[in-house]
Amino acid sequence: MVAPALLWDRPREECGVFGACMDADAGADAALTTFYGLMSVQHRGQDSAGIASSREGRIRVIKGPGLAAEVFHEDALARLRGSLAIGHVRNAARADEDDSAIQPFVLRFTGGMMAVAHNGSITNSQALRDRLGRSGVVFHSESDAEVIGSLIARYYSLGMTGAIERAMEDLEGAYSFLIMADQSIYAVRDPYGFRPLALGSSPDGWAAASETCALDSVGMAGKRDVEPGEITVITKDGLRRVSTRASRRGAGRATCIFEYIYFARPDSVVDGINVAAARHALGARLADEAQVEADAVISVPESGVAAGLGYAEASGIRYQQGLIRNRYLGRTFIRPKASQRETGVRLKLNAVEHVCAGRRVVLVDDSIVRGTTSARLVSLMRKSGARQVHLGVSSPPVKFACPYGIDTSRGRELVAATRSVEEIRQLIGADSLHYLSVQGMLQTMHALASSSPSADGGKAGFCTACFSGVYPDRAEPCECA
Ligand code: SF4
Repeated sequence: MVAPALLWDRPREECGVFGACMDADAGADAALTTFYGLMSVQHRGQDSAGIASSREGRIRVIKGPGLAAEVFHEDALARLRGSLAIGHVRNAARADEDDSAIQPFVLRFTGGMMAVAHNGSITNSQALRDRLGRSGVVFHSESDAEVIGSLIARYYSLGMTGAIERAMEDLEGAYSFLIMADQSIYAVRDPYGFRPLALGSSPDGWAAASETCALDSVGMAGKRDVEPGEITVITKDGLRRVSTRASRRGAGRATCIFEYIYFARPDSVVDGINVAAARHALGARLADEAQVEADAVISVPESGVAAGLGYAEASGIRYQQGLIRNRYLGRTFIRPKASQRETGVRLKLNAVEHVCAGRRVVLVDDSIVRGTTSARLVSLMRKSGARQVHLGVSSPPVKFACPYGIDTSRGRELVAATRSVEEIRQLIGADSLHYLSVQGMLQTMHALASSSPSADGGKAGFCTACFSGVYPDRAEPCECA
């Protein structure tokens, strides 16, 4: 099996989490709620899924490779019935990763049992493993979730929130995780808030999720983000916010800007900013910067659509549906041979000749990672009769690798790491190539944060490291490339 992202040249989000505390006496079921929540964050990980539930202090877990709907059937969910559950979907970082890294990770400790579901990447994971290993901890997986759980278990004499707060002082990198233990769920976000994590409530209970679209899908209202450095404790009595030393110190918010550009679902709101609105505004800003003369704006579905609409609106050039996506390929179709690359693209996307023929086309995409797909799409447009193909990208060139839980390819594989924009244009065969500037991207996002009633404009801050090389938690360039 070949991961779709490798075929389609996109960065890969590595995980999504969901957890729920539901009123079982009223007939609500946390495991079923979590299953539905996972279905709504499935875009964040398709290689494996798992749910751990708690009943009378005992934790059961069911997990396995595949989509949530493939791993869970009615009988499995019935076995997990309970008032507390956390779940996880994941993309394997490497094709050869074994199943021991599938989450939630469950461990026994002096306080009983604990389940961990984590989204992000602990950048000092190996150092923490070495340290814990010297004090006798034996690891069973390569998963960061096991490191997080083992650290918390080690500090448990401080109480659960005290142990988590102490562990946060050891953890470096990006983490938004859920812990289930002590008849509670603990929702925790790192001091920079790299990865999203949101909370919601309904008459039947409370939930935490990587994205608000998952909270919407299970009828949770009253949504808010877990603040950077915050621990929120979810119990049958409601939500309790715990201010930590990390949150009081205020490292400076650094929400992953790629969540808005590509990863998150358009109907989600991340740190107060709607994702669809962000994509639309980034596309409009790109049109202002690019100033291309053309007859039609066409976007690359699905993530490029909102940016394409924004581009068309700002430029006054008509938006047309010129690329059609095949929605039914599934994850495991047989990859065409290298000699059939064009077939590979045409299986996924096909151009509408009626729209392209004889036209000067602006093709809007959200990002270019390795450039292979862009070259094939430009070729597709030309074969469909386009007179000129101008490529507009609603983000800046991706030049640096991400150490915070996103698989952007290694630095050397990034087409923009070693090439100028003109060299990339030649490589992909476009008549012109226009990236959004880093400044334009940041100005657009800060303007959105200032105008959004649910975003605190003054506190808004974004990680732009894969574009700018400026890593929020370190002075030196990243060695992850
Ligand atoms: S380096 Fe890029 S992908 Fe990674 S967290 Fe920062 S903005 Fe997001």
